[in-house]
Amino acid sequence: MLRMMRRLLIAVAHGDDETLGAGGTIAKLADDGVRISLCVLTNDDGSRSESGLNVTPRASSIERAAKILGIERVTIHTYGDNRLDTVGHLELNRVFEREVRDFEPDTLFTTSMSDLSLDHQIVSRAARVAGRPGRGSVREIRCFEVRSATDCGEASGLPTFRPNCWQPLDSSHIERKLEALRAYGDEVEAWPNPRSERGVRALAEYRGSQVTTDYAEAFELLRAVL
Ligand SMILES: [Zn+2]
Repeated sequence: MLRMMRRLLIAVAHGDDETLGAGGTIAKLADDGVRISLCVLTNDDGSRSESGLNVTPRASSIERAAKILGIERVTIHTYGDNRLDTVGHLELNRVFEREVRDFEPDTLFTTSMSDLSLDHQIVSRAARVAGRPGRGSVREIRCFEVRSATDCGEASGLPTFRPNCWQPLDSSHIERKLEALRAYGDEVEAWPNPRSERGVRALAEYRGSQVTTDYAEAFELLRAVL
């Protein structure tokens, strides 16, 4: 028999990674009574500030999206976007180790090492350290795909995202995912950008069709202790 998920920690670099990567799954799990905590490391947009665009802190968008998806606990840090490589590994490991100690998740979701974003790779590594066997409550780790970051990784010679775990979803979960994505305003692009609503829906349909269901989100399951 499969283990019941009760407490889920989501570790990401940027507000919107959780929604793009697992928004439908988060909505479904919250409906099923799973308690969910989100830890975001950055609260700005470094690339925008360098190109002279308006920079608005993401905290209120993150909180709004979390509420739509049913996430009960949100922790937002203030490390610089696209600058996580300037922070010591030990410091980032400890951020997530503290989250694991405080929230006691049985399951951890994070970004994939296949993503072109270095921030995503750094978070993925730190989350795995915090969730390693023998160090806390985590029994299962999954990586999700983030449109554009994962697409660009595959198109740039990085290891291909290789899902081995699918969460079937219905249209209400996908609508909640899209509603949460709209909370991020400027981050939603026009089709054919992969971050457009149509692009997000297309991936959910594709992942669903792989396992003959209407919609799904796919994950790399790194470890599951039953
Ligand atoms: Zn990101």
